[in-house]
Amino acid sequence: MFLEKKIQDCVIIGSGPAGYSSAIYAARADMNPIIFTGDQPGGQLTTTTDVDNYLGFPEGIHGNDLMNNSKKQAERFHTKIINQSVNRVILSSKEGGVHRIFFDTEKYIESIGLIVATGSKPKFLGINKEKKFMGLGVSFCAICDGFFHKEKDVAVVGGGDKALEEANYLSKICKKVYVIVRKNYFKASKILQYRVSRKKNVNILFSSNVIEIIGDNFLEGIKIFNQKNKTSRIVLISGLFIAIGHLPNTEIFKNKLDLDEKGYIVVQKGKTITSKPGVFAAGDVQDSVYRQAITSAGTGCMAALDLERYLSLCVK
Ligand SMILES: Cc1cc2nc3c(=O)[nH]c(=O)nc-3n(C[C@H](O)[C@H](O)[C@H](O)COP(=O)(O)OP(=O)(O)OC[C@H]3O[C@@H](n4cnc5c(N)ncnc54)[C@H](O)[C@@H]3O)c2cc1C
Repeated sequence: MFLEKKIQDCVIIGSGPAGYSSAIYAARADMNPIIFTGDQPGGQLTTTTDVDNYLGFPEGIHGNDLMNNSKKQAERFHTKIINQSVNRVILSSKEGGVHRIFFDTEKYIESIGLIVATGSKPKFLGINKEKKFMGLGVSFCAICDGFFHKEKDVAVVGGGDKALEEANYLSKICKKVYVIVRKNYFKASKILQYRVSRKKNVNILFSSNVIEIIGDNFLEGIKIFNQKNKTSRIVLISGLFIAIGHLPNTEIFKNKLDLDEKGYIVVQKGKTITSKPGVFAAGDVQDSVYRQAITSAGTGCMAALDLERYLSLCVK
């Protein structure tokens, strides 16, 4: 069923910082954007408490408030918001071609421009209380939350580059950093291993798993199981930083857009242009490195500007 009669200029999939930022820019450039919120309206920031590093909020802002404000700002410029997930797309390979965006079983919208801002999700350990304590001691981002644990003891879980980058960052702020590695070796690059091994306040625990989160209302410690000697112990920490990877939300774009080996959408260097004409990608879905609200909002702006240029060069 064809929902909107006319062919759209701009459909945005995703309602995180990248989606709303692109909507505001697109709306103000008369592209009349339609945004699909997906099943997490407001995106990942709605799962945290205080956001202290987003520009313009000297006292910080709650993640939900930031995203509600972003939605209101997009609505102020008449962005049409559809509270649905996109379940399928048919992407045109033709310059100026029309893309078909399906939702709610067989309903669809057609659009010449498409901005993909579907974000990513952090991988969880799969233990009790880890979701409940997100923003209450459990974190997926040292740059975002490390500051709240200044001079305190924390732990990082993971043995890859990201985990050691997090450990390195935290070691400059926190009193003690436990690095908990499931294997008996690191997957991380040698240079990161070397950097972390030189830190006096970093304690590396190989062959170890976090099996329990301790605390009633917020995280107060963790129970660690050592696979070699089959013993467990409790360490008291204020922050647990889980760095075992992120999954980009790109299932519906497999075999439709070029993805890298981790599943992130490939864009042209310094742009948001994807492998299909008229399709642009912004935010975490195309960024495995920075993954910040502000960089997502930045690339959301870029996607709207790239789309505006595309529309002015073709068809119209
Ligand atoms: C617990 C936590 C705390 C964080 N704290 C901070 C912080 O303090 N500062 C900071 O800068 N960053 C922080 N981050 C990172 C930040 O949240 C992300 O970098 C940012 O939200 C990415 O924005 P995005 O718009 O790319 O995607 P997301 O925020 O991931 O949003 C993706 C959107 O796409 C939608 N979507 C997905 N699939 C579909 C589909 N098929 N159809 C329709 N919609 C779809 C989802 O519903 C969602 O609305 C934190 C992340 C987490 C998890």
